[in-house]
Amino acid sequence: MSRIVMKFGGTSVADLGRIRNAAAHIQREVAAGNEVAVTVSAMAGETNRLVALCREASPIHDAREYDAVVSSGENVTSGLLAIVLQGEGIEARSFQGWQIPMRTSAAHGAARVEEIDTADLRTRMGNGQVIVVAGFQGLSPQNRITTLGRGGSDTTAVALAAALQADRCDIYTDVDGVYTTDPRIVPSARRIDRISHEEMLEMASLGAKVLHVRSVELAMTHDLPVMVRSSFDDPAAPGPGTLITGEMNPMEQETVTSIAYSKDESQVTLRDVPDSPGVASAVFGPLADAGINVDMIVQTVSEDGTSTQITFTVPETEYARATAAIEGARDNIRYGSMEGDTAVVKVSVIGVGMRSHAGVAATAFKALAEKGINIRAITTSEIKISVLIDAEYTELAVRALHSVYGLDKVPA
Ligand code: ASP
Ligand code: MG
Repeated sequence: MSRIVMKFGGTSVADLGRIRNAAAHIQREVAAGNEVAVTVSAMAGETNRLVALCREASPIHDAREYDAVVSSGENVTSGLLAIVLQGEGIEARSFQGWQIPMRTSAAHGAARVEEIDTADLRTRMGNGQVIVVAGFQGLSPQNRITTLGRGGSDTTAVALAAALQADRCDIYTDVDGVYTTDPRIVPSARRIDRISHEEMLEMASLGAKVLHVRSVELAMTHDLPVMVRSSFDDPAAPGPGTLITGEMNPMEQETVTSIAYSKDESQVTLRDVPDSPGVASAVFGPLADAGINVDMIVQTVSEDGTSTQITFTVPETEYARATAAIEGARDNIRYGSMEGDTAVVKVSVIGVGMRSHAGVAATAFKALAEKGINIRAITTSEIKISVLIDAEYTELAVRALHSVYGLDKVPA
């Protein structure tokens, strides 16, 4: 017997037919003798509809009321799933975030889960009740409804699993696992059987959309195994999915496990900046003050060493604010000119095996050079290499890297 948390995403609860299908997956786990808690998203498209209604009501709106509105999609699916489960003779009850309560920070629209009181839930689960928790929502210290950010019901599921000390958290979605890269770009992408928390964290942070970044962080901190699997599989015989886990046998570790890409990038270049101590602080201080996250940074010095050129990237959504912050600090930075580009993409090569293998970066640079793709900026960590390139080369670059590291599926 295990205690498990099962999460169903928007396409897995898109209508009553899909909700009945989710119930069949739950039924299987209950029949196997497991204690089950469930988290659901809103029906596919519903949260977008609610977000649009808020904008239409008023372009500038109270973030607390936005959360009150956009959290409601999950209220509907949690109640409907409980009704369907009951109809099948399974004891079930829905919980909205505030009823547990799922305590979060007051950062409306991007709240962090802080505390979940699970005593009552554990008793209920021990008595055979299936708990159905509305994902994505919580309660602030001021007792207002909060939401965890788009895609946040993954985080509800993992936070709940950690608080319940569950054995496993299963994330049901519309794909049968985590892939070596986006299969829409690379048809030869493969489903990954097992991947480490840290690689999954890099993938999610670097643009792979399969899991909410915060959910992977939480799973890693709590050493919680997470499975990504498809609700579209036959409930009687589901496929293996992808297991995200802390313990990886070194023999299983590939040098490179995946290629991710992110289009939400923009590049800013400052030319003819007088090169003197404090220049980086003059540039990046105002961006930090504006709460803008800077990702890649490249600084080059002119031949005579008197001036420097600084290139950095920020999310495309922050581009206008970033350039405004730099212009506002022009007297202090004293740059000659500023240029920017939003038609850029960040492509990343990820793998824990990079720690022990030399030459991984060189292979990437060579593969890109052979395709005539110019690299605008580079960043690396112990387990990833990211390059910034022109957006028009995204597919070419992802395919070339996927193949050069041997990730392509071997044709059957
Ligand atoms: N329904 C929310 C959204 O669309 C949360 C989620 O699905 O994870 O962002
Ligand atoms: Mg999602």
